[in-house]
Amino acid sequence: MDEIKFRNSKETLTVQNVYCVGKNYIDHIKELDSPETKSEIPKEPVIFLKPNTSVVSDSKEINIPEFNGKKISGDLQNEVELVVVIGKEGKNITESDAYKYIAGYAVGIDFTLRDVQNEFKKKGLPWTLSKGFLKSAPISNVLHANEIEDAENLNISLKINGELKQNANTSQMIFKIGYVIHYISSIFGLKKGDIIFTGTPAGVTRLNSGDLIEAEIEKIGKLEIKVVQ
Ligand code: MG
Repeated sequence: MDEIKFRNSKETLTVQNVYCVGKNYIDHIKELDSPETKSEIPKEPVIFLKPNTSVVSDSKEINIPEFNGKKISGDLQNEVELVVVIGKEGKNITESDAYKYIAGYAVGIDFTLRDVQNEFKKKGLPWTLSKGFLKSAPISNVLHANEIEDAENLNISLKINGELKQNANTSQMIFKIGYVIHYISSIFGLKKGDIIFTGTPAGVTRLNSGDLIEAEIEKIGKLEIKVVQ
């Protein structure tokens, strides 16, 4: 677990719960769809959790975890996402009030072990291992919410070795940030230091050892991570 660091400020926050929204961009839902892993447009946000040990600030590297000396996956994939940091506790937060609970925004990567996820999905088992492993949720420094006018209209992109792989706009999210906060706070409650990964656009790709990943959200920040396997 790591402290969340803010840009232009000495402020830090301890990471509490890590919520992630799955299937929040239509093009990504389509690219994951197959007869075996059916991927449909959800009627309500798809929410899953990562442990807070997954979150790292200023991370430079990612690797597939090993268990008893053996890698648990052969298919590490990138998912660039807009990350929302919650600044105060609340429950049953209305959609219109939701933005008052946001301390700031960051760019993050929801690293995913796709082969593990697909196998567990097929068996109907929880796929926590594929999403929640150590350092699987690196985030940039956080930009204070008052420094950004509209977080829901920003270019979001990810390059691998200089080649553009993910390229979209946060306006394409199916469930807007206000609705996601309304939903999560009504069911789980929200705490100061909770963070929310808001979903990835299309272009998730199998990564190789040595790949350099550059994730960027316009105005918010950039993250550079090297794959070491
Ligand atoms: Mg994701």
